[in-house]
Amino acid sequence: MSTLRNMAFQTVLDRQVPARPVNGERYSELFNRFVFDEPKMRQYLSKNAYRRWKAVCEQGGKIDRETANEIANGMKQWALEMGVTHYTHWFQPLTGLTAEKHDAFLDFEGGQPIERFSGQALFQQEPDASSFPSGGLRNTFEARGYTAWDPNATPFIFEMSGGRTLCIPTVFISYTGESLDYKTPLLRTLMALDKAVRSVAEILGMEGDKTEATLGVEQEYFLIDRAFFALRKDLVMAGRTLLGRPPARGQQLEDHYFGFIPERVYDFMTALEREAIQLGIPLKTRHNEVAPSQFECAPLFEEVNRAVDHNQLLMNLLRIVARRKNMEVLLHEKPFAGINGSGKHCNWSMAFGGVNLLAPGKTPQENLRFLVFFVNVIKAVYSYHDLVRASIASAGNDHRLGANEAPPAIISIFVGNILRKALEELKKCNYDEVLESKLESISTLDIPTIPEVLLDNTDRNRTSPFAFTGNKFELRAVGSSANTASPMIAINLMVADQLQQFVEDYHAARAQGLTHEKAVMEVLARYVKEAEPILFEGDNYADAWKEEARRRGLRNLESTPEALDVYKEERIVALFERHGVMKRQELMARYEILMERYVKQLDIEAQVLRAIVLNRVVPVGVGYHNEVKGAGLDTVAETIKKHLEGAVKGVEEMEQARCAALAEDDVARQAYAFRDHVKPCFDRVRRHTDELELLLPADRWPMPKYWEMLFLK
Ligand code: ADP
Ligand code: MG
Repeated sequence: MSTLRNMAFQTVLDRQVPARPVNGERYSELFNRFVFDEPKMRQYLSKNAYRRWKAVCEQGGKIDRETANEIANGMKQWALEMGVTHYTHWFQPLTGLTAEKHDAFLDFEGGQPIERFSGQALFQQEPDASSFPSGGLRNTFEARGYTAWDPNATPFIFEMSGGRTLCIPTVFISYTGESLDYKTPLLRTLMALDKAVRSVAEILGMEGDKTEATLGVEQEYFLIDRAFFALRKDLVMAGRTLLGRPPARGQQLEDHYFGFIPERVYDFMTALEREAIQLGIPLKTRHNEVAPSQFECAPLFEEVNRAVDHNQLLMNLLRIVARRKNMEVLLHEKPFAGINGSGKHCNWSMAFGGVNLLAPGKTPQENLRFLVFFVNVIKAVYSYHDLVRASIASAGNDHRLGANEAPPAIISIFVGNILRKALEELKKCNYDEVLESKLESISTLDIPTIPEVLLDNTDRNRTSPFAFTGNKFELRAVGSSANTASPMIAINLMVADQLQQFVEDYHAARAQGLTHEKAVMEVLARYVKEAEPILFEGDNYADAWKEEARRRGLRNLESTPEALDVYKEERIVALFERHGVMKRQELMARYEILMERYVKQLDIEAQVLRAIVLNRVVPVGVGYHNEVKGAGLDTVAETIKKHLEGAVKGVEEMEQARCAALAEDDVARQAYAFRDHVKPCFDRVRRHTDELELLLPADRWPMPKYWEMLFLK
């Protein structure tokens, strides 16, 4: 066997799961251990500083210098007691990853070494931003970018072997105030949503003072042994396998989903949970996913801003903890061809005055409230379904959406039978019927010993990209590696805009002399009629749906460049500007950055594939070809030769296409050229190499095979 692969094989077989005795730790006691949460603030801050911080969180405003210093001091004291030496502003640039630059507390006073952390250092930093993507917003001579603490996001301590660092979640903006990250526009959409919900609440006579958008993220991932990973240049460099023959046994036995969790994975999961819980990420669920070696974890839902931070942090933890266990987590949307890809279901809702606005009620009045928010979300998604698609566009996610898998690129909504019926009645203006009907369904199993079960009033159409699941919407089309802020920005914004429209339409209806209830219902009935094309209960994977969706006027944006073009449309720019979320140039910068990321991703894939074919596959193939030929096996030799030539020709054509694409003079043209001329080469090359993998001796194949990576632990 090729020596390295042989070593990897042996290494994996020799792995042992270390015995880790159960120590009786409770998650409830570990929770937030590394977070500067409210109880710690109360303990470490003066009454005045604590009150001021709380007021700013709730009502906005500025924190004066003196209070800032007091907060920083309290935080430092806690951090030092926890053995922290450094602090960093922690932010989410448009790379999709997180960024940090550490500074020591160490300083000098009168020549004496001390630990110092000022209010200034807590609240603002000036990282040299010239190496972060800015889409032309920042000229290189103006390299200054600013990070500023978001007081609603709690600082935490990140521990790695050898040290602990205090991380302060911040926004990242340019010298001239444009957003260079995901958090800034996210926070602005949350403000817009709060404002819109309040004015609707006023109409509905609801009590409360703050809107809380909520998010629960189900995170899927693959887990493979690190020894195999290291020998897959494609996984290391591009995050996905660019060649590899799907094994005879994939997921067809359906034996993995919710199956028995292998002990090595269990060991990993429990270590991950411990870290996550200490960082305040309330991980709740763990299970095997559909594909071999695919798993999922999900926390309890939280307020959106926090949930977004936590998902970014969780992705970091997944990688780090996996390595500690000699494994590698694959967060790419499609690491293996022919095997299910990974997504990240975003469960989203909003609450006001502690009430979930998307929970159907028991009384007509509660139902009225529910219908207002439910129908407005549907209308918003109908109007901006293309923006939802744009917000989840990436090279990786194109392998799921638009391919024959997972939710399709066409965004539609599934609401289930009961609610579909209610909407029909609403459309027919049978208002009393709708308001008095039971929108929440209780079903009895015919087993007397098992009590009534509260069923989701949706029958869970698994193929729907945007499904109502009882008391929240679930956007399932998000890619597993995405920053969830991106789809959250889109959804918060479009719903805020729609709710504001509702308020206007309601007042117009009242002005015509309609009673309160009648006015609400009339407007909703009109929305249902307009937005009906977005409702789809059928099989989203079927080809017939593409045709049907086209007739309904729903867009099918199959690739990232098309989807991103949506950001350039006037009505989208106007939407972002209207609510002060992003100015035109900020949106255009983002468009450029995302297009560029798409180009770079495909460019890397093309280069890696070519190298693997030329310097790994071909040498082995030629050697074996000569042997078989020498042995007189001419037909076998011919077939090998044909595929070797096919693969080489394929990568050379791909290389020409790649150079031609890069020669295009703007990033949009480059992106389309990569999509149309480079990407199709991948499959062509692969057809040959995957045949060669079958024809060449197993022990000489130069990299781990699918079955080894997916089935050996
Ligand atoms: P499933 O896999 O059946 O879709 P899970 O239990 O794995 O469901 O995940 C559901 C997610 O939805 C969890 O993170 C849960 O906390 C979250 N969730 C529940 N209620 C809400 C809500 N009101 N807003 C946002 N997310 C919610
Ligand atoms: Mg789900």
